[in-house]
Amino acid sequence: AAREAAAHDRELTNHHFKEGEHPIVRIEHLNKTFTDTPVLRDVNLDVWNGEIVVVLGPSGSGKSTMLRCINLLETPTAGHILIDDEEITGSKKTDVVKLRRNLGMVFQQFNLFPHLTALENVMIGQTKVLKKGKEEARAEALKQLDRVGLADRADFKPPQLSGGQQQRVAIARAVAMHPQILLFDEPTSALDPELVRGVLNVMRDLALNSGMTMIVVTHEMGFARDVADRVVFMEDGVVVEQGRPGDVFDHPQHERTREFLGSIS
Ligand code: ADP
Ligand code: MG
Repeated sequence: AAREAAAHDRELTNHHFKEGEHPIVRIEHLNKTFTDTPVLRDVNLDVWNGEIVVVLGPSGSGKSTMLRCINLLETPTAGHILIDDEEITGSKKTDVVKLRRNLGMVFQQFNLFPHLTALENVMIGQTKVLKKGKEEARAEALKQLDRVGLADRADFKPPQLSGGQQQRVAIARAVAMHPQILLFDEPTSALDPELVRGVLNVMRDLALNSGMTMIVVTHEMGFARDVADRVVFMEDGVVVEQGRPGDVFDHPQHERTREFLGSIS
């Protein structure tokens, strides 16, 4: 059920709370075990409407698994996840198509259809899932491709685009569905270094101007520091530490956080 932000929550984030605001994503005592191996161990996390949360942590710490539980690409072993006050983990069967309409996901490997143009890639979810007409979907797709700086690449297919351009198409595709929440799983990790900045600029624009809630797994510390309202550090399936970027980066409270930040900067 809904509850207001406690004073404690407000200390952890630069998010500007509205009167009576309650979390749009609630993760409570989330556990995920793969054949006897616990991968998530009692993860608790509330994310506020419009908040930008960056999730940090070493490889294998459970970051992707947590994102995949949020859109039910993985089934949690135990615990509860509520999206906009609706439990998706309960005994009541969740409408996964409806859930994923509200949860855009951007993957490390883009996952575009290689035989469709950029425009068609951004249209297809709108026509198939949202049942929009072709012209309306096309107009929205062109608008979103323009937003990510690819208006002139609308008729190109993924193999004709750079990795950075493909990732920007994937972001346009997610945004064209107008979800409340966008999940990013290491969106720049597969890119050549010179292509990273263009993708981060698009994400920064969305973070500052779209009002969408974003949960971003990334190793881009500059992005986390500048753009995140809150950073969450995970290790070994648990949330070790979280807080405002300035607090976590400049004054990490836990030895493991210090070691991790030292190892990547
Ligand atoms: P991260 O994204 O932080 O690198 P993951 O969530 O991908 O971590 O993985 C956490 C742990 O769970 C790893 O040890 C990984 O090997 C394991 N894991 C992830 N997916 C599966 C799966 N489908 N089956 C078995 N083990 C998995
Ligand atoms: Mg991962």
